[in-house]
Amino acid sequence: MANSFYDIAGQLAQLKQQGLYRSRRLVDSPQGVLLKVDGKQVINFCSNDYLGLANHPEVVARFKQAADQYGVGSGSAHLICGHSSAHHALEEELAEFTGRHRALLFSTGYMANLGLISALVGRSDTVLEDRLNHASLLDGGLLSRAQFQRYRHLEDNDLQEKLAACTGKALIVSDGVFSMDGDLADMPRLAELAKQYQAGLLVDDAHGLGVLGKSGGGIVEHYDLSTDDVPILMGTLGKAFGTFGAFVAGSDDLIEWLIQKARSYVFTTAMPSAIAEATRVSLRLLQTEVWRREKLQHLISRFKAGAQQQGLQLMDSVTAIQPILIGDSQRAVDMSAALLAQGFWVSAIRPPTVPVGTARLRVTFSAEHEYHQVDALLDALGKVIA
Ligand code: PMP
Repeated sequence: MANSFYDIAGQLAQLKQQGLYRSRRLVDSPQGVLLKVDGKQVINFCSNDYLGLANHPEVVARFKQAADQYGVGSGSAHLICGHSSAHHALEEELAEFTGRHRALLFSTGYMANLGLISALVGRSDTVLEDRLNHASLLDGGLLSRAQFQRYRHLEDNDLQEKLAACTGKALIVSDGVFSMDGDLADMPRLAELAKQYQAGLLVDDAHGLGVLGKSGGGIVEHYDLSTDDVPILMGTLGKAFGTFGAFVAGSDDLIEWLIQKARSYVFTTAMPSAIAEATRVSLRLLQTEVWRREKLQHLISRFKAGAQQQGLQLMDSVTAIQPILIGDSQRAVDMSAALLAQGFWVSAIRPPTVPVGTARLRVTFSAEHEYHQVDALLDALGKVIA
């Protein structure tokens, strides 16, 4: 008799019927604004490579050299024999960049959030998360076994009520820039509430670092806050940094605690040292090539002005993430396919990534885009959405 456990075809068919089936496309070129996708060249408007560093010649060159120097694999976890001088130097530079005592590398952002939250709170505590937080933050909250509460998106009154009802330790967790909406957390208010209620505050600034703030310091610099206001900062390296991996920055004690207790740090292989060396170069470029951030802002403004003129339904975003609300999942998927046929790659984001009924086209920008490419995208959007 067939084993019914493996009867997955029906569930897959259901996803297809609901417009929720996901498939991958084959990219056969370096990352950048122009991609060869399924054999055809398209303009990429869906990457998180916001500053265009993923294929920067200096970053690539350092990666190659460092592979000669360190080999490819890191050999083991950091706590065994995998912690190299390249990792250590990057940690020190990230600490300096974020103005904190120390930083700790994680192999991915997803793992950083799982390890971080579950190391900081447990059964008798409460974790309070914005409803629209990234999946890795939500999963980290669930994994921690703390009482898990979600407050309504950006509604500090709801958060305050929940904080007031907490008994044990409480940890507030928020994206800095919300990854599917592009809007910003009200960080000054979160910092105020955390102080008032003696709660911890953890910010995932995956989409803000390198993009927001004059020197790319992210949401903390954008709001001109101190490190004291936002004591636990998490950042990823696969977006504006253009490489791979993640880090947590904070006090000496926080980092030492994570080295002891964050299971996704302790029990996993360290990122390759060549990635760390390449990231040291991209960190320097991110700080010195200020024009990248400035150009990105000009591209965003140009897109927003054009989209508003066309009556496209944008969301409240000043960041490189500019979603256009569509609503129906299948409609968003069809529009994304129509754009691709015209040579523009814009992804359709559907539930469960976003709430039901809010499927969207998520347009993202890179400093390497040209203004005429933004205009061409606007033209194509106008035709597809009309
Ligand atoms: N946090 C946020 C807000 C993200 O958008 C992402 C990646 N999409 C992550 C964490 C996970 O980072 P990584 O891709 O390095 O696992």
